[in-house]
Amino acid sequence: MQQLQLLKRLYWLKTFGYDYFDEPKSIETVDNLQNIKLPDTLLELKKYTFSCHLCSLSKTRKNVVFGEGDQNAQIMFVGEGPGEMEDNTGRPFVGRAGQLLTKIIENVLEIKRQSVYIANIVKCRPPSNRVPTEEEANLCKPYLLKQIEIINPSIIVSLGSTSYRYLTGDRNGAISRVRGEVFDFGNAKLIPTYHPSYLLRNPSAKKDLYLDMLKVKAML
Ligand code: SF4
Repeated sequence: MQQLQLLKRLYWLKTFGYDYFDEPKSIETVDNLQNIKLPDTLLELKKYTFSCHLCSLSKTRKNVVFGEGDQNAQIMFVGEGPGEMEDNTGRPFVGRAGQLLTKIIENVLEIKRQSVYIANIVKCRPPSNRVPTEEEANLCKPYLLKQIEIINPSIIVSLGSTSYRYLTGDRNGAISRVRGEVFDFGNAKLIPTYHPSYLLRNPSAKKDLYLDMLKVKAML
């Protein structure tokens, strides 16, 4: 809320001629923030997020983890949020879970990690790796949706229940029930599966994820 009030003040100052950044006309509600005109290139969008302080995660982050990969990727992976390694490096999925994700991409899908695009629901690390709140996810979501619009992947793989729920709005969707299903998501097909960090704790779930990835591979 404090951030919203600050932004309101900045927009008010803008009416006196101060130059900040594009629009919006009103930011009275969180919903209205989703109407901000965001840049149409990944490079510009990335710069935009680097100065983002919309939610309280900006206070504790070391780096904004924008996402990385091929901007023409056919597949996009969306996780929950950066962890410690990601926060330190500014890169998504570089810790143990990230190494497992890379193996899955390269060994099961048989493509290079650089040929997909990897991002998260929130771009700043939640303290102690807690689940992002609904407010944090909603404030950050326009960036992710813009990335999806620019990249225009044909397949989006949501990793874990948090990613699936915040992407689709299906709050009751247990990942064990929806994993491997194929949903429409704009121009893309969305396939939820387990988060790699869950597999590190529950190796028996690897088989399910393997089956989900075979489905993705068949759709390429
Ligand atoms: S998590 Fe997203 S909305 Fe929150 S400060 Fe970081 S970039 Fe901005």
